[in-house]
Amino acid sequence: MTLQLYRADAYLRETPAKVIAVNERGGIILDQTNFYAAAGGQPGDRGTLKFSGGNCVIATTVYDSTDKSQIVHVTAEGAPRPAIGDSVTLALDWQTRFNLMRMHSALHLLCSLVKFPVTGGQIGADEGRLDFDIEDASAVDKDALTQALMTLVSANHPISERWISDAELEANPGLIRTMAVKPPMGSGKVRLVVIGEDGAVDLQPCGGTHVRSTGEIGAVAVSKIEKKGKLNRRVRVVFI
Ligand SMILES: [Zn+2]
Repeated sequence: MTLQLYRADAYLRETPAKVIAVNERGGIILDQTNFYAAAGGQPGDRGTLKFSGGNCVIATTVYDSTDKSQIVHVTAEGAPRPAIGDSVTLALDWQTRFNLMRMHSALHLLCSLVKFPVTGGQIGADEGRLDFDIEDASAVDKDALTQALMTLVSANHPISERWISDAELEANPGLIRTMAVKPPMGSGKVRLVVIGEDGAVDLQPCGGTHVRSTGEIGAVAVSKIEKKGKLNRRVRVVFI
């Protein structure tokens, strides 16, 4: 099992760890990690694994396909790889991760402003997008959304987390905004990301990494609203 250090501290840039396995494709499994494994529309982290034999580039991070309790650090082709038992240091590509955190939080704000069902989404370090089921296209306006997003950013609302039981989530299905991404259930408890006092701005199940307050998101804008189907409207957010 890999201890997920980013759960307790999304700002942990570097950590020591021990190699517990190297899979047949050269993926490295450690006893603990600060690298986020791809899930819920947030890409897996990149960075560098340093050990006595050199520096190994980690191209991305994923959950093991058969054992979800293990996180696999995917190495670049031909990279030097540590052996089982080796002590290593894991260093995040922090600029990319921090931008992913900012964009992920920005998309939660977008979600709070567009009160329609979310059918998909993708978080990127430069751009993020959410797909909504919206029958009346006039219900969303690019400039009005940008302004509303920036009002929430400027207010510097706190972002925190809270845990509830699977049963509590089932009793409050309204908390689930994203139909395309199943909330991380199954362990008996679910993490909620809380924006504003008691979730006054937004409250929804999410396993991703977020900034500590909306002010850290910085300047963002809705760059485009695309029609992707009869009902589907794709709203794109960029940093400016
Ligand atoms: Zn989220």
